Amino acid sequence: MPDRRDTLPQHGATSLATQLFETAALACAAGLLACLAVQFSAALGARWWLAPVLLLAAAAADFASGLVHWFADTWGSERMPVLGPRLLRPFRVHHLNPGDLLERNFIDTNGDVAFGALPFLAGALLVPLEEEFLQALAVFLGGFGACALPTNQIHKWAHQPDPPAPVRWLQRLGLILGRTGHDQHHCVPHATHYCITTGWCNRPLAAIGFFPALEWLITKLTGAQPRHEDLALADAPQAALPVRGGPAVG
Ligand SMILES: [Zn+2]
Ligand SMILES: [Zn+2]
Repeated sequence: MPDRRDTLPQHGATSLATQLFETAALACAAGLLACLAVQFSAALGARWWLAPVLLLAAAAADFASGLVHWFADTWGSERMPVLGPRLLRPFRVHHLNPGDLLERNFIDTNGDVAFGALPFLAGALLVPLEEEFLQALAVFLGGFGACALPTNQIHKWAHQPDPPAPVRWLQRLGLILGRTGHDQHHCVPHATHYCITTGWCNRPLAAIGFFPALEWLITKLTGAQPRHEDLALADAPQAALPVRGGPAVG
């Protein structure tokens, strides 16, 4: 009798070119973070606004993770070039087979998010630091990129039955997304709690009906139906072939 896991859709192995691309993105992100640490420690002293700006950057990164996740779950076709196989389909496959994310290695898990964080980290480095407002802007951009960077790793930890002790500690403190908060997204039809970095935005966005309102507006303007393909995939999971070259996200 076949193992049930064998019948679930899975991410395919990534190509060598994809692995090199993801490794390069991670190396660039690490290099930019090191440059930012040196630049900020040389140019900034203890400023009263550092903590609030960094908190704001963390909340913004969480909100951005929700927007990207919501878009990938809800709109567009997985047949779209680049975005389809690399962003949309992996998120949708993850709904049917969440455990597959745990099988992905560090580079596969984090490489594409690192690529997405690069413009923010590079932007932070390019902002001139003569004035205090610009210093705060640079810290916000750098903080946003730094918080966004581990988004999919945090998501993976939220699915892990027994993550490392420091991670459990951060989850308990509510500084990163925890299992309980993320479980709510994995209830069909996967239409709430999209934020997967800190998870801070999930409850407020659900309380004000942010994503349903956005979906209503988009349907009104375009006629497109939310989660059209995601629901079809849930009805016919055998249609979900392995995602070749797709990142391990969800
Ligand atoms: Zn998940
Ligand atoms: Zn989802």
